[in-house]
Amino acid sequence: MKRPESVTKLIGELKRLPGIGQKTAERLSFFIMRGSSDRAEQLARAIISVKDKISLCQICHSITENDVCGICHDSSRDPSIICVVEEPYDVFVIENMGEFNGVYHVLMGTISPLDGIGPDDLTLEGLKERVAKGGVTEVIVATNPNMEGESTAVYISRFLQSFGIKITRIARGLPMGGDIEYADPVTLLKSIEGRKEMSR
Ligand code: ZN
Repeated sequence: MKRPESVTKLIGELKRLPGIGQKTAERLSFFIMRGSSDRAEQLARAIISVKDKISLCQICHSITENDVCGICHDSSRDPSIICVVEEPYDVFVIENMGEFNGVYHVLMGTISPLDGIGPDDLTLEGLKERVAKGGVTEVIVATNPNMEGESTAVYISRFLQSFGIKITRIARGLPMGGDIEYADPVTLLKSIEGRKEMSR
């Protein structure tokens, strides 16, 4: 049976989402089709609205509806400890633990020569500016424990070397090759607590 074109299109769009394969995309499409027009419209509006309203924090590049995110704005947070992560979503994962009281810096990726991503494509200059302003005592590098994440961590430790601050790397508790976003909170907390100073 040939599917109507609009259905094929919806399945195709859903399949682009992370973790959604053909089967799930088909199920979601049929769920949307069976539901009311109102529900479908709410879903579509929610997607458009999030793209309209959300931008990246001018300081840490995490997501926000304002110029500066709630964490950077929060005076109860400790700005002397910056946790460096790859993606805005990683901030959410670490925040969900509810244990980290410092601030963040989102790199917006990792150094990956194979994909043509170099240090200049990340937000490293912004990180340097924050450290250069003074008041930062530690930078925790919480990039993913895979090849790109490790080499990015080494790059950052050299990049910030001249400031003489403590640069730590999250511990190896996380499975090698895994992503922070999939780590369970206990493992993630242990890996942050067990962080080690990087050699210079
Ligand atoms: Zn921020």
